[in-house]
Amino acid sequence: MSRAWIGLGSNLDRPRQQLERAFQALDTLPESRLAARSSLYRSAPMGPADQPDYLNAVALLETALEPLELLDRLQAIEQAQGRKRERHWGPRTLDLDLLLYDDLVMDHPRLRLPHPGIGQRDFVLIPLLELAGELEIPGWGRASRLLAKCTSRTARRIG
Ligand code: AMP
Repeated sequence: MSRAWIGLGSNLDRPRQQLERAFQALDTLPESRLAARSSLYRSAPMGPADQPDYLNAVALLETALEPLELLDRLQAIEQAQGRKRERHWGPRTLDLDLLLYDDLVMDHPRLRLPHPGIGQRDFVLIPLLELAGELEIPGWGRASRLLAKCTSRTARRIG
């Protein structure tokens, strides 16, 4: 089994329920098991500020799905939860990012690993560190060191 770290975000249509449903959907993926889930965090939107705050969390999935197959599954979950998005970085019902897949580094047109935004986003790094304080991001170093260098810090744990 591989270890896949997944970032979840929502700021539309009852975000807390969106994340709960997404955790359940992840746990029912074939050849996969939801091994851990972080607390929920509230964070300010990136990009356009005229949209609600986000709820964010991170999941650890143990999976035998290959990375691109897993990405397909994540996108299907987003679609099933009626993902709407009118503009880049605008509000959305559910965003699922594949953050890390074991220590794989890849640059495929559909899938970059580690996820390129990981190092600048406190709402990703803080829940990752909640679950794995010693986590190393391949090619980038320790998650804790990246968080210390994060200039924008808005994520607050809400339970
Ligand atoms: P977004 O709408 O911001 O979630 O971006 C989705 C697009 O990013 C899709 O076209 C994906 O193929 C691409 N993508 C590249 N790398 C990743 C990744 N690590 N996780 C999720 N989507 C990715």
